[in-house]
Amino acid sequence: MRLYGIFGYPITHSISPRLHNNAFHAFEIDACYGRFAIEDPDTLMHHFHALGLEGANVTIPHKEVAYAQCDEVRGVAKEIQAVNTLVKEGTKVIGYNTDAQGFYEAIRSFGPLSHALILGAGGSAKAVAIILRTYGVRVSLLNRSRERLNFFASQGFETHTWEDFTPQKYDLIINTTSAGLRDETLPCPQTLLEPILKHSSFAYDLIYNHPTPFLRLALTYGLTCKDGKEMLLHQAILAFNLFFQNRFEPLAIERAMRPIFDL
Ligand code: NDP
Repeated sequence: MRLYGIFGYPITHSISPRLHNNAFHAFEIDACYGRFAIEDPDTLMHHFHALGLEGANVTIPHKEVAYAQCDEVRGVAKEIQAVNTLVKEGTKVIGYNTDAQGFYEAIRSFGPLSHALILGAGGSAKAVAIILRTYGVRVSLLNRSRERLNFFASQGFETHTWEDFTPQKYDLIINTTSAGLRDETLPCPQTLLEPILKHSSFAYDLIYNHPTPFLRLALTYGLTCKDGKEMLLHQAILAFNLFFQNRFEPLAIERAMRPIFDL
């Protein structure tokens, strides 16, 4: 039996085991995917090898450490400097980032976009900003403090704090902050957010377990809204295919995984 898993801390909330185990079942693959709570990031690779894993996903707070510890990093992960997928290749561990393309798959149905505004400047904002730019979308970022914006400014993105921001017209507004995850706060002051939403068409929130204050407000302005479930689903589909050298049809993997979200 082949073994896979997800590393993070905390990790009990993760639905990745259900997604991947459903796909193993659908494709009759003799494999199992588990959750591993890893507190000390320096032990990540030790655990990967000691558990005899063929592949793994990595979640908060270890994506940057995983990037630094891989034998090789491929694709867009090199720009993002974070990996969420590890694949054993011979004696090496190769790192990939499927969050970025997973996000893009999630918003593809919105159609062509010219300008997007990202709220937040953390790890997930890096994946979102870089993949949007790869697909030719102009990207601006708005964060409550300056420090984390420096990475984006150094990469040539337009960056603003709440103090120096003048709202413009954007097609898509994306919440990548954790505001609204466990509270009723908006990702930026309502006085900034309302003029932005008034002139936008689409809103996306990376948070996926409940309708956030951000999405509820966007709905009142008539925006087409989506939450983070589609991103979670698509990053898992892409990761699953990396585990198996892109052997499976993405739609077939999606058919196996999507019912988890409908339960
Ligand atoms: P980080 O901790 O790296 O970044 C958090 C960002 O949010 C920072 O820019 C921070 O601002 C800002 N922030 C935090 N709290 C507030 C607040 N109350 N008001 C305004 N800004 C705030 O987090 P990640 O980027 O790793 O993750 C962010 C969210 O995305 C999480 O909720 C996570 O669950 C979700 N996520 C979903 C995924 C999916 O597949 N759907 C994938 C990955 C993440 P500052 O710099 O000022 O501190």
